[in-house]
Amino acid sequence: MKIKTYIQLLLLFLPLVLCTACNKNNGSVKRETSIKVVTTTGIIGDLVRNIAGENVEVTSLMGTGVDPHLYKASAGDVEKLSGADIIFYNGLNLEGKITDILGQMRKSGIFTVGVAEEIDKSLLFSPEQYEGYYDPHIWFDVALWKEAAKVVMKALSLYDAQNASVYVYNTESYLRELGLLQNYIQKKIASLHPDMRVLITAHDAFNYFGKGYGFEVMGLQGISTDSEASIADIKSLSEIIAARKIPAVFVETSISPRYMRALQASVKARGFDVDMGGSLYSDSMGSRGTKEATYIGMFKSNVDTIVESLSRTIEVADSTVAGDG
Ligand SMILES: [Zn+2]
Repeated sequence: MKIKTYIQLLLLFLPLVLCTACNKNNGSVKRETSIKVVTTTGIIGDLVRNIAGENVEVTSLMGTGVDPHLYKASAGDVEKLSGADIIFYNGLNLEGKITDILGQMRKSGIFTVGVAEEIDKSLLFSPEQYEGYYDPHIWFDVALWKEAAKVVMKALSLYDAQNASVYVYNTESYLRELGLLQNYIQKKIASLHPDMRVLITAHDAFNYFGKGYGFEVMGLQGISTDSEASIADIKSLSEIIAARKIPAVFVETSISPRYMRALQASVKARGFDVDMGGSLYSDSMGSRGTKEATYIGMFKSNVDTIVESLSRTIEVADSTVAGDG
């Protein structure tokens, strides 16, 4: 059974109905067949799994190390999407190459939900250089990811009303886990000197992280990896790093490190050694079976990598750069 497009409009206006009595009842009504959910990214797949429980079968199109900005759908992907009861995608142009296909799925009557697109726009960031567009990397502020969890809960509850209480219960439980993650991040970052909170990465995936946790953030490529980094981009960023003696920059697991290596070489040519601080999970989680294979795990790993790299290198910088600061 497909839910028609007009129901998607209802989603926008439906108030969040939290039934207190229902919350105490986590008994799901067993369905004869599982609800088939297809998500674009693994990060959204992880969110849906945490909220959906046993009645839902979740498939994510993009696996470990896949860059969603450049991802093109295969014939197999189109088949998976066509067979879905619900499609969850990020939106805000994150999956720029498959926007048309997602539009076709919606037109065909499949319940298709852009998780980031349903979040209150006043909470989103619109970079100066992309006027009129919003940064899609909302998962790097836990507060925004909590909003995304509520979007998923509402959509599942709308599709499968008889199990709405289960989705509400699971969401509340997951929101508590995200609260613990938030505490972990804040505590970890508090151990890093405020002057060292400068995050330089391959592309602009960490703007929400910067705003949420007090980091100055710079990316070599823009908010989409669709744009190549130019020699001028590398030159201007390397000038900043060398002048400010920023100790480390970071590669990303879903992006080729070649531009960051070029940046590192360019900084060296200016007489300063910048460390490659480690790999961050930006638009893709870690491999199955690793602790980075969940949203919470990848976020903790990123924060550990950032704080440990910047803390370690400040000690080296203090002992080798005379008269610094
Ligand atoms: Zn990205």
